[in-house]
Amino acid sequence: MKNSFKGIILSVQPRIRLIRSFDERSHNYLGYALFIRGVIDGVEREYSVGIGKAAQQKHQFCVGDEVSGECLPVADERLEPVEFYKASKLKKTGHTQNEFKISPPWETISPDLDTYRYRGHRRLAAQTYAKKCNTCIWGCRMPVEIIIDNWNPEKRKYRFETFCYGPLSCTLYKAGPPRKVEGRNGMMYVEEDWVDEEAVRHRKMDE
Ligand code: SF4
Repeated sequence: MKNSFKGIILSVQPRIRLIRSFDERSHNYLGYALFIRGVIDGVEREYSVGIGKAAQQKHQFCVGDEVSGECLPVADERLEPVEFYKASKLKKTGHTQNEFKISPPWETISPDLDTYRYRGHRRLAAQTYAKKCNTCIWGCRMPVEIIIDNWNPEKRKYRFETFCYGPLSCTLYKAGPPRKVEGRNGMMYVEEDWVDEEAVRHRKMDE
């Protein structure tokens, strides 16, 4: 049986999984993550629900919207940035804020997933994400699946990493330390700054 929920949206961010294999990386674009304060299965608390891209296209959810629906607990918490997913019966029942903010963190309506893919991301310090960016449409906390050894694909590790898809000029941005990725036979890949520079090189500072 599904869990019914209702509440106010605190944040809408893209729901993207990162797959790493030493110096290679690829993304699975799963949809969007709604972070909500409200009631789920009769309990009042903060929780998160994953929705698909079609649902976001239809409802255009953003911070301050009142939402209700049904969902299921995720099957594998290592692969999802949310606690619940497979949302259905989604309804936008109201809105509690009237004006969008004009400074970061940006709390407008998230663009489509192709836009995120096109923009590319830079690593974002986990602390900065937690303190300043967790309501920004350009922030993303990705579940990361690391394939340690391509010859032995069962050998995987899991963690979370935070990224920024936002304007390069954002004053809140802090990169944090370079990310390290374990490989076969104890080898370690360090993702240097040029990887991020390359990923966003096509954008101007304010884009
Ligand atoms: S650093 Fe990135 S995620 Fe954080 S507020 Fe700025 S644009 Fe948003």
